[in-house]
Amino acid sequence: MFLFGLIASVADREKVLAEGVPRDCLQCLRRTPHLVVEERRQLSVFFLPVWRWNRRWYLVCGECGRAEPVSRQDAAALRRSE
Ligand SMILES: [Zn+2]
Repeated sequence: MFLFGLIASVADREKVLAEGVPRDCLQCLRRTPHLVVEERRQLSVFFLPVWRWNRRWYLVCGECGRAEPVSRQDAAALRRSE
C-alpha cells in the first residue's frame, strides 16, 4: 500500500473554468460574480494524471461560496459566455 502511494494516487481535483460570471445567488439574494468549477476524481501515476472520473460541475458564488450543481452543457455554455 505504501508503494502504491508512491507510484499512484487518487485525489479529488478542482479546476476553475471561468470567473466573474454574473448570476443571481439564492443566498446573497442579489446578482454576484460566480465561478464555474469542475470537480473530478483523478488517478495519477508518477504525478501524471492517467484517468479522470466522477466529473461534476458547479457554479460557486464569489461572495458567499454557495455551490449550485450544473450540467456539463450549462458549464460549457457559461464558460463561453464569459
Ligand atoms: Zn452568494
